[in-house]
Amino acid sequence: MIEIPGAILVSGNLVHDIVVRPASEIRFGGTIWVDRIEQHMGGNGASTSYAAALLGAPVRLIGMIGDDDFGLQIRTRLASAGVDVSLLATNVEHGTASSVVIVREDGARAFLHKPGVSSVAFAPPFSITQASAAGCSHYHLANPYSLPHVRPIAGRLLREAKELGLTTSLDTAWDSRGEWMQVLEPCLAHLDLLFVNEEEARLLTGADDPESAARHFLNAGAGSVVIKLGARGAVVFGKDRLDVPAHVVDAADTTGAGDCFAGALLAGLYHGYPPRRAMQLANAAGALSVSRVGATSGLLPLAETLDWAASSSPTPCR
Ligand code: ADP
Repeated sequence: MIEIPGAILVSGNLVHDIVVRPASEIRFGGTIWVDRIEQHMGGNGASTSYAAALLGAPVRLIGMIGDDDFGLQIRTRLASAGVDVSLLATNVEHGTASSVVIVREDGARAFLHKPGVSSVAFAPPFSITQASAAGCSHYHLANPYSLPHVRPIAGRLLREAKELGLTTSLDTAWDSRGEWMQVLEPCLAHLDLLFVNEEEARLLTGADDPESAARHFLNAGAGSVVIKLGARGAVVFGKDRLDVPAHVVDAADTTGAGDCFAGALLAGLYHGYPPRRAMQLANAAGALSVSRVGATSGLLPLAETLDWAASSSPTPCR
């Protein structure tokens, strides 16, 4: 994989989630009583940075929030984990991106989403500069599909980071516009590490098995490919293949598991862990993420995550 001796620069979206559960149907003209209405921090950039910082890596996040309470809550939570939020811009015209997530008894979810600042964030002439990357040795681009202005420039941002001497990674997510490879292809030549889940890998490449999909990404220039397999763990393809099983947990909410996994893997590499141990840390963070409602609510600091992983076989981290 890669070594990350300095701080991690992350760019991506930040979302304020309101989670309502359980509700089986929405009727207009009446009140539906529910058990819980909770606020959570979401968004791929926010969750990935939070996870990496909570697990002990120095992290700087580039992103945008609105000049509102939702934005303030996100900024405060990120700072509480130690994320450097000095490059978190506040936009006074558009609100913080936010979602209302309605969860049915059986776990199915309906999202009402307001992109807010996500529709204007990273507008031209945004670039990765020496100043924004000062002290950083790695750049992680979280979900280019969630930010309209990032779609056409994702490859350029990664190239700029490489030109500044940084290593790079990118985590995909669902592409609601269906552009898939049109956005990812220009990135692959500038990527040391690609994170992708099994279903996204299939849609991006047309290959049905993870190994063939990974081969496609590697042939197009990616250095290593991590394919996330949900409750089955994850597998890395690069020089060698490395399969690492997941922890067994009761999944309360799988939203954000991939972001926590990616942030934890980067934190592990920052701590100098060899690939298998970094992957075990990532699987532990992914499992802790799904064990609670809210992307990052279940996460624990490094020492506690290692203790939890050690007591929860099959994948102790030490
Ligand atoms: P994404 O959130 O990007 O779709 P996954 O659903 O594969 O990615 O989840 C990322 C990681 O979180 C997995 O590789 C695994 O380590 C962990 N994870 C996800 N779901 C579960 C689960 N049900 N039980 C245990 N670990 C899980």
